[in-house]
Amino acid sequence: MPQAPDPLDRPLDLVVRHGTLVIPGVGQVRADVGVAGGKVVALAESIAQPAAETYDATGRMVLPGIFDPHTHIGNELSYESEAETETRAAILGGVTTIGIFLRSLEDSYFDHLPAFRKAMDERSYVDSVFHPQIFTEQQIEEIPGYADQFGIRSFKFYMSGMPGIVKSVTDDVLLAGFRKVAALGPDAVACVHCETGALIDRARQELAARKPTGTLADWEDAHPAVAEALAIQTAVYLAGIAGAHLYVVHLSSRQGLEVVRAARRAGARFTVETTTPYLGINSLDPNGFLVKMVPPVRTPEHQVALWEGFLDGAINTVGTDNTSRGRASKRPEAGLHGSRPGLPALGTHLPALLHYGRLRGIPLEVLIERATRSPAQVYGIYPQKGTIAVGSDADLAIVDLELERVVRAEDLKGMSDFSPFEGKTLRGWPVATIKAGKIIARDGKIVAPANGRYLPRGPAPARQFEWFGRAAA
Ligand SMILES: [Zn+2]
Repeated sequence: MPQAPDPLDRPLDLVVRHGTLVIPGVGQVRADVGVAGGKVVALAESIAQPAAETYDATGRMVLPGIFDPHTHIGNELSYESEAETETRAAILGGVTTIGIFLRSLEDSYFDHLPAFRKAMDERSYVDSVFHPQIFTEQQIEEIPGYADQFGIRSFKFYMSGMPGIVKSVTDDVLLAGFRKVAALGPDAVACVHCETGALIDRARQELAARKPTGTLADWEDAHPAVAEALAIQTAVYLAGIAGAHLYVVHLSSRQGLEVVRAARRAGARFTVETTTPYLGINSLDPNGFLVKMVPPVRTPEHQVALWEGFLDGAINTVGTDNTSRGRASKRPEAGLHGSRPGLPALGTHLPALLHYGRLRGIPLEVLIERATRSPAQVYGIYPQKGTIAVGSDADLAIVDLELERVVRAEDLKGMSDFSPFEGKTLRGWPVATIKAGKIIARDGKIVAPANGRYLPRGPAPARQFEWFGRAAA
């Protein structure tokens, strides 16, 4: 980390006064935050030094900027367009960094990475890291090149794709990919969408034979939990052989969590993510196929299990799987297979986490840790991101825990004309978001130009995942 400037050497750009900080691993601290040059340069009970700007956070919680490690950009409109609109929704919602799963089904990523990067440097409201999705032998061969030339340290593999959208990779490709990722070093990450395709195919046939009911519950039947659980077992085994750091994306089921716990008891070390749609929405939701995603939102009993895993550390991180769509192309009226998967979820990520997490009695520190420090550690950007400390980037979400708002898509300012949380009242919303020391969003409005940057990552030393094996057995 670069040497932090001495706060006495220069005037401060910004002081956030009188707030209560939530610092992962430390707890809640009453302190002022002094900012200069885009960095936190002072934390003190009271900062008397003059500043160009002050923000009075009396009665507010000051969180590290939220890091959503799991987003998709450009699946509906152009990449360039969504790089602006979806990160605008993100910053209004307190998210200051995102991980983006890039998709190129056939081409080399060398053909696309310069444009992806340019869009994030020039149009994004948030900082970003990339996780290319690996489908071809050529892409596997090029993994070291993506690392060297673009600072990429994380890659994604689909054990089961989605018809017409994403291809699946077979187990041999998975193992070859894991070996290539592991060879980059101990900080490199192999993200995996864990579902077993054959079990999904059969479930779909059985569903068709017994006539689906036309509700969202059918979609859960089409992607049974057993398919997720079996795939996790396979991925853990293959990652163990390759020595790769496995990151299970979007865990959705109780059965999947049981496999996670069993593998950890047997000594496997890997990371598990869930998403705020799974934590906040279930398959009884009245919005029906408008909340269709892959894997599906499931029955409330799965949510109980996911929250237990979230609290006890079996689940390490939380993201969104944001895949923005418009209602017209989502086509919820087209039913089980006609409607398209994917949800806009960046703008509601933090409010949903705060609202549903506190309803379940999850301590605020735990909620915030899973959404900041934990993913920042996994993806090699801690402590630049994921905490509030002298020398860290001055990315802060200032939250009113008591503020209640009804979710309406038009307030979220993404490209989408619906939200999976549409019509629900959530308690706990950001009232300001500070990015690189600038107040960018305030009271639901953008008040300054976008200043997001792509974050190239270098080889990093092996990290200590103290929380990693700790997961309750
Ligand atoms: Zn995803």
